[in-house]
Amino acid sequence: MEDTLKLLFDKYDNFKNQEINSNRITHAMLLQEIKKLSNNDTLKINCVGQSINSCDIFTLSIGNGETKILAWSQMHGDEPTATAAIFDLLNFFTSNDEFNKFRNDLLNKLQLVFVPMLNPDGSELHSRYNSINIDINRDAIRKESPESKILWKLAEEIKPEFGFNLHDQNSYYTAGISDRSAAISLLAPPTDYEKTINETRKKSMQVISVINKTLNRFITGNIARYDDDFEPRAFGDNLTKSGISSILIESGYFKNDENKEFIRKLNFISLISAFYTISDKTFTTVSVDDYFSIPENKSMLFDLLLRNLTYRQNGKEFKIDIGINREKKYDPDKNYFYYKGNIQEVGDLSINHGIEVYDLLGFHVVPAKISDDIISTQADLNKLDYSKLHKNGFGIIRINNELLGNAYLQYPVCAIPYYKNYVQSICKDESPNLIISKNSVIEYMIINGFIISLGDIKKKIKNGLVIS
Ligand SMILES: [Zn+2]
Repeated sequence: MEDTLKLLFDKYDNFKNQEINSNRITHAMLLQEIKKLSNNDTLKINCVGQSINSCDIFTLSIGNGETKILAWSQMHGDEPTATAAIFDLLNFFTSNDEFNKFRNDLLNKLQLVFVPMLNPDGSELHSRYNSINIDINRDAIRKESPESKILWKLAEEIKPEFGFNLHDQNSYYTAGISDRSAAISLLAPPTDYEKTINETRKKSMQVISVINKTLNRFITGNIARYDDDFEPRAFGDNLTKSGISSILIESGYFKNDENKEFIRKLNFISLISAFYTISDKTFTTVSVDDYFSIPENKSMLFDLLLRNLTYRQNGKEFKIDIGINREKKYDPDKNYFYYKGNIQEVGDLSINHGIEVYDLLGFHVVPAKISDDIISTQADLNKLDYSKLHKNGFGIIRINNELLGNAYLQYPVCAIPYYKNYVQSICKDESPNLIISKNSVIEYMIINGFIISLGDIKKKIKNGLVIS
């Protein structure tokens, strides 16, 4: 078995759906991929209802075994990684190759029902919520949304032994107190505030322990155990309560994997590993201690961590670290992702880690300056001398007319509407626009949370922000 998983990991590209990437999946893309699979007679495709905006929601089922498994993704519309992995799995299960014996064994023992994209309306807007701004994962009791009703009804009708709840989490989690980002976080949701371990939950813990063991063969130390506080309105908690062993898989962050293609592969291998141990019931011999030995998911990372800066006030000097994150935002008009930087924390961040870290001992930090010139047209914006602006400490410009409608700028500068009374400061939840200098010479500018070394003229940033 272990050899088969290793071989599958190595040959994953044979099954990877090349048409979709794990960055953004729309309902139209989903329909297209489902259509391609519709000729396959081993696969049952059913439309099981519609979202609030009348987008069809589907189940894709395969296998004729006794043990039933339900897996759903993109309950949060901006969390598409596992949807891509589900299509990879469907490719795997409908292929005809050297893995035939392995897959037939699985399909003879299991009945797999996948719901890729439970929240198509949120997926269209790349939003967590559905079209009436309800978080479906807080709607498991009231079931006000059609999407929640569909999932609950499927669980009642199918009565699966296991339910896989597939999500994405932000990049700032680590596996325990370490600098290792949590690539995958796993949870066996509790059924009460006391976090009782009943038989149903125990089975989730055992299967998770097997997944953890598998993943650690390929990626040591980047697997975490998600916070197990009881959430009475969440699906995992309520399904476990109803006797379905639920497993939450959160796709996190792994270095140099911005599009989460590697994490998608980890989803694929996690689910195959889980299906296998469920099919041959080997998980039943695993101790729950193995589950608790997985390091906890801790929010310890920043996108950018600036250490040991000197900050001056009232003639006194203070040592500060600054932790900065960059929220990825979706612009539906331009079908474009941009970033909104944010100062998360200021002070002693010696316990934290950064995806990018700079030790700036001996450097001073002050807020970036705001230019008094008003830029009114895109043409003028294109012509600005950004190196000169940075050299003089300007990180923010004033804009007017046609530029006022923008949420972001494709240049290394932030902007404010010309009439806005804005004071840049270095405090929590401010836009991170900073000057970093040594011996009164500016060496770095921070613009919208991106660091620019003034000596490095090629260094680009993703975007500046319009601070409204
Ligand atoms: Zn989620």
